[in-house]
Amino acid sequence: MPDVLSAPLVVEFPFTRSLGPVQSAFLTGLRERTVLGVRADNGTVLVPPVEYDPVTANELRDLVEVAPTGTVTTWAWNPSPRRDQPLDTPFAWVLVRLDGAGTALLHVLDAPGPDAVRTGMRVRIRWAATRVGAITDIACFEPYESEPHGSEPASHSGEFAEPVTGIVTPARLDYVHTPGRAQSAYIKALEERRTVGERCPSCRKVYVPPRGACPTCGVATAEQVEVGPRGTVTTFCIVNIKAKNLDIEVPYVYAHIALDGADLALHGRIAGIPYDQVRMGLRVEPVWSEGARHVDHYRPTGEPDADYDTYKELV
Ligand SMILES: [Zn+2]
Repeated sequence: MPDVLSAPLVVEFPFTRSLGPVQSAFLTGLRERTVLGVRADNGTVLVPPVEYDPVTANELRDLVEVAPTGTVTTWAWNPSPRRDQPLDTPFAWVLVRLDGAGTALLHVLDAPGPDAVRTGMRVRIRWAATRVGAITDIACFEPYESEPHGSEPASHSGEFAEPVTGIVTPARLDYVHTPGRAQSAYIKALEERRTVGERCPSCRKVYVPPRGACPTCGVATAEQVEVGPRGTVTTFCIVNIKAKNLDIEVPYVYAHIALDGADLALHGRIAGIPYDQVRMGLRVEPVWSEGARHVDHYRPTGEPDADYDTYKELV
């Protein structure tokens, strides 16, 4: 399909979360080169520790130190490491049951090749040189020829440091997005600074951006309809938090805008008017970004406000 577009798309979101008493102790322990598990109701030591017993659901708080050495219970070879994986050379994903633990921990094993890895092999933790209270404080596992429980004593340092109470988990989706027929036509029209939706052959509603099918009737849409460029603010919010990497001063207004001729409101920023004067019914027009094929923001047209009855179905 030559008319369908395709482009790389990255969605990235660093998720900041607080830790409960068990995860806090576990990560604080890793920072001090100590691995803590938690004793379950049946006596098994769970590593990594959990806050509630997986069988009885009782609260678990009996933390137990286990050894930095263990046994591989299963593994898979990763020949081509990806960005942000623990090692940048080929490695094995391993489940390791640390000595003293009843469950296995997922991590990676630094090995020269898959022939050097086997279930049952003995391994030990290679600690990261700089530890911050995260699972990456375990740099990886490495082969270790010894009998079980032959581990070196854990080295404790910085015992007066503050406990680890939160972590930042980076979430990232890195893929190629193919918008499909309807959205491709919409994006191509934007290049000519036109906004094109599609009309449902059954209910006659015009959807912008078009989805290729009517969400109400479930039938395919094909008839293209140019809408706008002017529109009406149907509802809005005032944004007070400055987003990282976004060069817009707060507060600013983000609105739902029903373009003339469209039966679905789209989103846009409102500028060219003090944020506290934006209102439902405000008539706006697009201001296109320089060089890029999208609307930078919408500004007031100066027309009288739209009557509520003309857009109430779109709020
Ligand atoms: Zn329809």
